[in-house]
Amino acid sequence: MFNRLSEKLGDIAHKLRGSARISESDLDDTLREMRLALLEADVALPVVRHLMSEVREQALGAEVARSLQPGQVIIKILHDVLADVLGGQRRDLDLSKIPSVVLLCGLQGAGKTTTAGKLAKLLASQGKKVALTSVDATRPAAREQLQVLASQVDVPYIEGAGATAAAMAASAVNEAGRSGYHVLILDTAGRQVVDDALMEEIREVAEQVRASERLLVLDAMTGQTALSIAEQFHAAVTMTGCILTKTDADVRGGAALSVARSTGVPVRYIGTGEKIDAFEAFDPDRMAGRILGQGDVVGLVEKIQSSVNQAQAEKTAAKINKGQFDLGDFAEQLGQMQNMGGMAGMLKMLPGVKLPQEALAQVDDKPIKRMQAMVSSMTLKERRYPRVINGSRKKRIAAGSGTSVQEINKMLKQFAQMQKMMKKMKGSKGKRMMAQMAG
Ligand code: GDP
Repeated sequence: MFNRLSEKLGDIAHKLRGSARISESDLDDTLREMRLALLEADVALPVVRHLMSEVREQALGAEVARSLQPGQVIIKILHDVLADVLGGQRRDLDLSKIPSVVLLCGLQGAGKTTTAGKLAKLLASQGKKVALTSVDATRPAAREQLQVLASQVDVPYIEGAGATAAAMAASAVNEAGRSGYHVLILDTAGRQVVDDALMEEIREVAEQVRASERLLVLDAMTGQTALSIAEQFHAAVTMTGCILTKTDADVRGGAALSVARSTGVPVRYIGTGEKIDAFEAFDPDRMAGRILGQGDVVGLVEKIQSSVNQAQAEKTAAKINKGQFDLGDFAEQLGQMQNMGGMAGMLKMLPGVKLPQEALAQVDDKPIKRMQAMVSSMTLKERRYPRVINGSRKKRIAAGSGTSVQEINKMLKQFAQMQKMMKKMKGSKGKRMMAQMAG
């Protein structure tokens, strides 16, 4: 699923990530490319429109933290908008009732029976006491199929008694309650097409058992048809979510991307193959990351946006402009860098930087800690006017911080170089650089 879309959006994102500046016309070009990629992936047109207008609006209004590149911010915006369209926050099934009934509906061939088995296995592996039942009153073969599957996944099968689906459901739920099952997965009859009789039957079953979850099983391969099926089911019985099957065979991913937004039925799980454990909970955020393939950038932006203290950056910039940036500020900046996960953490997330694991392991944050120790052993006057730091002061500072005079000399030299550079860069450039350090 999403292979091509992911490739295309990934390329677009990759082109963006290094950009120092993005003009409105660049943004338009980018959006056009994205739009094409989404349409090719069979994403429903209203969803494409929504995505594009959201990205555009947010991108134009975005405040780019000084330590970020606009391209990175756009990738993050696209990621968040995608995650939102995919259903926002991941929601676990509501299994608070005992027994909780999980009703599965869908058309024949969608993968309903297989999915019932998969879900039973997954919930059982999470420690739930699960049972399965099928209420297909007219097709004993369908019930048998589920029974076989139940024994395969080692989950008990309950055969409800009664002539109608609703009666069978009520009897199975009673039995589940009596036997102390926590979850009863209830498979309903499928049809080739949506018809009134099927809807009526599902409505009756849903009413009878007051299902905690009503999940629609949809074949992702059917693309936009899946959307209209979802709409029809949802109109008849309010669905609490859907399960997309055969996402392994669906190269485009349009349904997955459209269904939550178009129909209001969020994807809760996806089937990823014919095997019984080819099944996973659907996480919009993770899926958006997977589509874009830019997890590192998204992580970087999140980290910076949450840790940059804009006011602090302004204050520092003002100090630079007045030539008042002293060793104390220097130490503070170093500390902020440390908050970001240190050098290694930052390097790992920088765009275009692919360092081998061994190299990252060698990045050492100890020098930062030692510099901070040196600065904290200085008096305010020394921090403000480093030139007063003579030989005996150096000895005192070295002793106080557990460092050496050589190290102090080295740091003072670095700081002097930095100050020189800052003088040259006074104004907006200096500000930007400080923000970069703060970030
Ligand atoms: P039902 O009629 O809705 O109960 O559908 P079934 O459970 O009998 O499944 C129909 C076909 O879809 C079977 O051949 C399944 O193996 C297949 N199937 C179900 N889920 C998946 C999936 O996630 N991936 C793939 N590739 N095939 C699936």
